[in-house]
Amino acid sequence: MSRFLNPAWAELEPYVPGEQPKGMDRLIKLNTNESPFGPTPSVAEAVAAVVSGLNRYSDPGMSELRAELAALHGLPPECVMVGNGSDEILALAFQAFAPGAVAFPDVTYGFYSVLAGLGHLEAKVVALREDYSIAVEDYESIAAAGIPIVIANPNAPTGLALGLAEIERLAAFNSDCLVIIDEAYVDFGGESAVALTQRYPNLLVTQTFSKSRSLAGGRLGMAFANPEIIADLDRLRCAQNPYDVNAMTAAAGLATLRDDALVQERCAQVASLRGAVTETLRELGAQVLESRANFIFVRHPLVPGEQMYRELRQREILVRHFGAERTKDFVRVTIGSESDMAAFVSAYAEIVKTSEL
Ligand code: PMP
Repeated sequence: MSRFLNPAWAELEPYVPGEQPKGMDRLIKLNTNESPFGPTPSVAEAVAAVVSGLNRYSDPGMSELRAELAALHGLPPECVMVGNGSDEILALAFQAFAPGAVAFPDVTYGFYSVLAGLGHLEAKVVALREDYSIAVEDYESIAAAGIPIVIANPNAPTGLALGLAEIERLAAFNSDCLVIIDEAYVDFGGESAVALTQRYPNLLVTQTFSKSRSLAGGRLGMAFANPEIIADLDRLRCAQNPYDVNAMTAAAGLATLRDDALVQERCAQVASLRGAVTETLRELGAQVLESRANFIFVRHPLVPGEQMYRELRQREILVRHFGAERTKDFVRVTIGSESDMAAFVSAYAEIVKTSEL
């Protein structure tokens, strides 16, 4: 820390991203929930086509992308915005709508507590139930205090999802506070609350192009809400980084929207592979939470999470381990390609067998 750092940031805990190893040729990378598929076919050409115009700034209003997204969801364009990854949109939302505190589950996306720290917000942490599920009634007292709530649905790293009726309940009984539903993984089998934003003016839904649309490196996220919430977010966005989405990323995003059928087909493939892997792991005695996302959260009674992480790594398979009390027994495994998952399952079986000896 330099002596010039504003003391306000002395205690700031930054987000620790999953490892992005260099020289990845041998490693099977199942640690950051990326897509095993490359960008959809029209992306490369669409990006190449904007290169000659890069001397100009990108459109700060992102009107074309917003219009296409609005059309895809049957919403007016003023109910949609895009940003530099959904992380940026979440950061703007915390800044905009959480004056003193924000509530989220104890086991969830680690970036929420980082953002709370950044905003000097009190984090009201609500424990998941014993089975790792979210019970929306546990948020009633929070709502009564008018504190914004953020829920990842499906949740990460558990993969468990709430149904739309529960999201609606959450939005309805919290009508005086903002409810943010982070749908980073919704395309792999969750139910999206985007349409509910038209009925609940306190509901903000975020999504990303990073997972189902294979554009994690492109950095493109989106938000859906009533026009006033979008205008508030946009006001903060334009006060900080009006050209947050670059022209190449916007072109890539538009191209994937045009390739939507292929995107949906790939999501179905991931979901089906997730089902097969879950079944095999259960046959090996593992407990696998019922995931609706492109990853699974799995523990084995014979192999602690940290050891499983290490032993998989020795076999050149990279997964994610979270050392907190309620997550330390598990590893989170991204659903990769079929061959990646075959290698993972066989390594997992071998590790379990060795522990049985
Ligand atoms: N929400 C959740 C629950 C996530 O796991 C992630 C990915 N790390 C994000 C949001 C952020 O995604 P991105 O910024 O790539 O859109």
